[in-house]
Amino acid sequence: MKAPFMPTADLIVTNARILTMDDARPTAEAIALSGETILALGATPEILALAGPATRIIDAQGRTVLPGFFESHVHLGLGGAELAHLHIDHLHGAEAVAQAFRAFAASHPDRPLLMAQGADYGMLGHPISRHDLDAMIADRPIAMMSHDHHTVWANTAALQATGLMRGAPMPHGHEVVLDESGLATGELREFEAFGPIIALGGEARINLGIATGEEPATPPTAEERAADKAMLLAGMRHCAKHGVTSLVNMDGNRYTLELLSEMQAEGRLLLRVKVPFHFKPHMDLSALDRASDMMRDFDSAWISSGFVKMFMDGVVDSRTAHMLNDYIDAPGHRSEPLFAPETFNAIATEIDRRGLQIAVHAIGDGAVRTTIDGIEAARAANGARDARHRIEHIELIDPTDIPRLGALGITASLQPPHPPGAMDFPLEPTLSRIGRARWPDAYLWKTLATKGGAQIAYSSDWPVTDVSVLRGIHAGVTRTPFEGGSDERLSLMETLRAYTAGGAWAAHRDHVTGRLRPGLAADLVMLGGDIETCAPEAIPDLGIALTVCGGRILWEDLAGTQ
Ligand SMILES: [Zn+2]
Repeated sequence: MKAPFMPTADLIVTNARILTMDDARPTAEAIALSGETILALGATPEILALAGPATRIIDAQGRTVLPGFFESHVHLGLGGAELAHLHIDHLHGAEAVAQAFRAFAASHPDRPLLMAQGADYGMLGHPISRHDLDAMIADRPIAMMSHDHHTVWANTAALQATGLMRGAPMPHGHEVVLDESGLATGELREFEAFGPIIALGGEARINLGIATGEEPATPPTAEERAADKAMLLAGMRHCAKHGVTSLVNMDGNRYTLELLSEMQAEGRLLLRVKVPFHFKPHMDLSALDRASDMMRDFDSAWISSGFVKMFMDGVVDSRTAHMLNDYIDAPGHRSEPLFAPETFNAIATEIDRRGLQIAVHAIGDGAVRTTIDGIEAARAANGARDARHRIEHIELIDPTDIPRLGALGITASLQPPHPPGAMDFPLEPTLSRIGRARWPDAYLWKTLATKGGAQIAYSSDWPVTDVSVLRGIHAGVTRTPFEGGSDERLSLMETLRAYTAGGAWAAHRDHVTGRLRPGLAADLVMLGGDIETCAPEAIPDLGIALTVCGGRILWEDLAGTQ
């Protein structure tokens, strides 16, 4: 019997294996959506009673239905832009890379820069220099980005076109690497160093949110805004194809939020997006006024801000991750935190005092400790609140710091595709840099959740890795331990939670999405089969049958799956 006050469903999915991530009703067989929200969950006959003449009914035939995937750490603008770049992820050796570049050059005769993505530090078998790239293409600017997005290698033409041949003054942690004669080797470390290369490719504005955290110097024209929105839209389409309905963008500025708002007005905002204020080491505490303004001005179910992103260090492969001990292959070198501890304590305390959330990239165990110390200082100064501060990556942690995560309510924002060997990243040079003795403390997941008591949010860090959540789940449940290390896999259900409800909670979005429950957003993904009964090896190929965000179908491949 249909209750008289019940609205009619717009979309009903029946005969599904629905994993709601809602403890009040963990599973259901059918779900009804009405407008932008979930109307009801229950048994198939009960839900079918909510159908009207215009209701679309989809028989799931036993497939898994989950809350739309919540991507807890992505770079939407960069990812959207990079869809148009050359991708060299699986290539090895100079000849293969050269061939790919030459074919790309031939098909893109007008591009001011030929940019490749997915280079790995060891792909040429020796430290990469501009001469390697000159041998591939010398007469046009070319460059390639490391998969971790912390290093770019450019050829001589690109270095000349950007004025970097003799180096450039750089903030701490960023470097145009020079040889003994004072000329650029072609290796550019961190964003400020390779920013001019990105700008040469016409992507300076969309990269501002990660490069400097500042706004465009002059207001972008309508044409420029349209170009930037096209990249965001391409990025959202790509994510939706993989079942993602919410994004926590890990870089940004007010301009990003304005573009998203324009897209919403134009009916082209496909996904829910959260955008941070990016606080850089050179900034004064008063810069946080801008973060508070962004939090106040953008606070809807679709577009929100309310958090501050910082980098505490770089990455292991380039030895810019800040360690508590010397790198075993570089005695005397531990790298330094990008914020001095006392400075960071003051910044963290001010962010927390303003009711903003802290999200810090910390990879080395030294950076992780400095970050935890800052969050602890904030709590000591301001008192405990439901802050849900978070640390991004945590690739290495000192065992004594593990229980501090849970004690301080810190979320571990982790990436199942990141550990070397887990998905696309090679074992070397990362494992050698970390050193065998520390492998048991590297890339912990289960230990952080159990011994550490930390909340876990999973993500891809796209475009650093493939945004495919199915591939991420597979990496998460099949990873093998490093020698001497423990089994760090979460169970399948815990993994799914970290990609849905866990992420929504960690982003303060759990009142909007992340679980399937009446009244929450109509955000769901239907997989191509039953993920609980299929072999783990088959998970990446399950496919996505349906992605719905706010009641709108963004991706549909019912025939092509199962
Ligand atoms: Zn990132």
